[in-house]
Amino acid sequence: MDVINLRISRKRYTKIQSVATRCFKYFGTRNPLLVLEEMEIPYSFINLEGDLKGFTNINQNRKHWVYINNKYDDYSVKIIAAHELGHIILHRFDEINMLDEYCAHSKSEYEANIFAIEFMPQIKALDLICEELSDIEFQNYICSKLKQLK
Ligand SMILES: [Zn+2]
Repeated sequence: MDVINLRISRKRYTKIQSVATRCFKYFGTRNPLLVLEEMEIPYSFINLEGDLKGFTNINQNRKHWVYINNKYDDYSVKIIAAHELGHIILHRFDEINMLDEYCAHSKSEYEANIFAIEFMPQIKALDLICEELSDIEFQNYICSKLKQLK
C-alpha cells in the first residue's frame, strides 16, 4: 500500500473516528449489517467475479443498495459491510462507487477502510492515542491496522 499518496490529516482521521463512534453509540451495535438494516439500506449477497468484495449502488432515487460477494465468511462479510457503511456515511452521494476493489487507490476507499477499522475495534492492532505519535508513526499505525482488513 502506498502510504505516501494516501496521507490523511489527523483532523480527518479523528473526524472519521468520531463518526464511527457516534454510529456505534446511536445504533447500539458494532454489527454493520444491523446498522444497514436500521438505516433501511438493503443488502444482498451475490456472486461476484475475482477480487471484488462488494460495492454500493445508488439508484436514481438516491437509494443505496449494498452488494456483498457471497464467497466470504461471516467475519469478512462484516468488514466488507463496515467498509460500505463507511462510504454511505462519510461520502453519501459523492460518487457511485460501482467497482470497489479495496486497493485503497482513492482517498474515499482509504477513508472507508479507516471507518471499518474504527467501527469494528476487534480488528484494531493497538489502541494508541494518535496525538502522541509522530507523523510517520501515525501513518504507519493506520497502515498496520488497515493490513488486517483482508
Ligand atoms: Zn470502497
